[in-house]
Amino acid sequence: MPRTPLDILRTVYGYDAFRGRQAEVIDHLRAGGDALLLAPTGGGKSLCYQIPALLREGPGVVVSPLIALMQDQVAALQQLGVRAAFLNSTLEPHEQAAVAAAYRAGDLDLLYLAPERLVREDTLDLLAATTPSIMAIDEAHCVSQWGHDFRPEYLQLDILADRFSGVPRLACTATADERTRVEIVEKLRLGDGNVFVTGFDRPNIRYLVAERSGGTSQALRFIRNEHPGQAGIVYCLSRKKVERVAAALSEAGLDALPYHAGLDKAVRTVNQKRFLHEDGVVIVATIAFGMGIDKPDVRFVLHLDMPAGLEAYYQETGRAGRDGLPATALLTYGLQDVVLRRRMLEDSDADDLHLRAERRRLESMLGYCELVTCRRQTLLRHFGDHLPEPCGNCDVCLSPPETFDATEAAQKLLSCVARTGQRFGAAYVVEVLVGSDNERIFRFGHDRLSTYGIGTELDRKGWRAVARQLMARGILTTDAEGIGSLKLTPAAQPVLRGETTLELRRDPMKAPKSTRKRRKQVLPEVLLDDNGGLADPEAAARFERLRELRLKLATEAGVPPYVVFHDKTLAAMAALRPRDEEALLQISGVGESKLERWGAAFLAALRDEHDLTGHEEARDDGGAGLF
Ligand code: ADP
Ligand code: ZN
Repeated sequence: MPRTPLDILRTVYGYDAFRGRQAEVIDHLRAGGDALLLAPTGGGKSLCYQIPALLREGPGVVVSPLIALMQDQVAALQQLGVRAAFLNSTLEPHEQAAVAAAYRAGDLDLLYLAPERLVREDTLDLLAATTPSIMAIDEAHCVSQWGHDFRPEYLQLDILADRFSGVPRLACTATADERTRVEIVEKLRLGDGNVFVTGFDRPNIRYLVAERSGGTSQALRFIRNEHPGQAGIVYCLSRKKVERVAAALSEAGLDALPYHAGLDKAVRTVNQKRFLHEDGVVIVATIAFGMGIDKPDVRFVLHLDMPAGLEAYYQETGRAGRDGLPATALLTYGLQDVVLRRRMLEDSDADDLHLRAERRRLESMLGYCELVTCRRQTLLRHFGDHLPEPCGNCDVCLSPPETFDATEAAQKLLSCVARTGQRFGAAYVVEVLVGSDNERIFRFGHDRLSTYGIGTELDRKGWRAVARQLMARGILTTDAEGIGSLKLTPAAQPVLRGETTLELRRDPMKAPKSTRKRRKQVLPEVLLDDNGGLADPEAAARFERLRELRLKLATEAGVPPYVVFHDKTLAAMAALRPRDEEALLQISGVGESKLERWGAAFLAALRDEHDLTGHEEARDDGGAGLF
């Protein structure tokens, strides 16, 4: 009997039903069509090419940008009983030859390659030795020259359309505003009408923006309070900061490791491996880290500097909570970010078109930071998605910011900038406004200005917040010389003339406190009652013991723990306590191959648990038990 996609989903992956548009995309590809699939990170894109590859004749070819990650992807597939391999420079020549031979002989279901490898003439010859079932291009937005992850070798992938004209191609990405979509379809020649978009919402990620304060102690507090002992990514803008923050966090007792392109390759590899293979490692990194990371149990992504734009931000935060369990994305942000980012733009030697794209990205990011409405609604709108109601899981929804009519305050600040000659930074201007007896002010004679000491309605912090928001809205800017002097833009005039009113948020922006307790422990919902409390403490304890077993088995097999089973699957085992193979197979995430490989060990562990708690069940049986 011919197998259907649903058969494969159930027997190989152990899942019950397709999600989003998976079934449609798979049917479309099986029928020979090309497609672009847009879905959020964790949205289940890989199944969309893996299943057609298993159903159609011939091996599937997957283009994936990061060599370092192919190994884990392939290991995970092998656990499912799929004949997968990768071809890259980390393999010895004889290993490469063996993979090539297996491909030729039709003994592979899936072959992973990096784009630069694929476009080599010898590789193209090899691939043509048999007809591939499907070609998948992962992280397809790398083809976009205006995007944030541009990779020139992606542009060459359009040859696949010529060389393998009968083979269906699937491009996948998690980042795609309208413009990038059009570009991908065009550059990769995917044809019209083949774009599949699934919802971009990641409801389990809590989106928070907080005002930056206190350097690394803020990061430390956040991790300790909200995600103790859990895996997370801390993003910083510079390599120096990465090293400083990683050192500070380690010193404070966290398992924190640095990652940036300036580190020795061996160190990078080890750090990445530890992050993937151990529980609860925090990686402190520049954006060099993360593309293609598919560790499902990253519990938080913390940005200590503002990213360049919303696409990058949403993609980076999307690395949290791929397993669907609660996760946090926190961005700390301050006046300094606005100054720094604007300066980077001024200093950039990019051409006009690129500069304009960069500027638009920055504006959208700043707008996001200063929002006084639901953050998720704005994020989703940016990606062409629509959320009808506020989400209830972002800082604005959880503790709505106070706003105030800041028209007069803005006028005072703007005229103070003008009167001091547009030569000073925010800190100085604020000192003048509050009438400080700073010696510099007297030296410049600014104590005689009409704006000296008129800022009685706000304190220094409040004034800095106004300055930041005026910058974010493009009413103020900073000089090109890079010393951070504030300047008025044309948009300042209507404010000064009283022609527009301004509603600003009253700082501080703080991460909502009320949620701390509830968030301390991240447990899959099968273990929770309706109020988010722990339904059965014994099940939770069992879950922890199953995790220990998983770590042991994973270490022995040399794979990350989640490759054995996801947290969700373990939790279901802990809650349902399957007694035999059949019951175990009913649990989501247990397919035939994993059952064969790991089933016995987990059943044995669960059986021990039954023995330990045998007296309870005896009671359930009507009291005719041992005790
Ligand atoms: P993406 O490539 O879109 O980031 P993945 O393909 O890695 O996402 O899928 C994310 C997780 O969701 C994986 O662990 C995957 O096994 C799981 N998954 C995918 N499809 C389904 C489904 N239909 N039911 C349950 N889990 C699924
Ligand atoms: Zn919200």
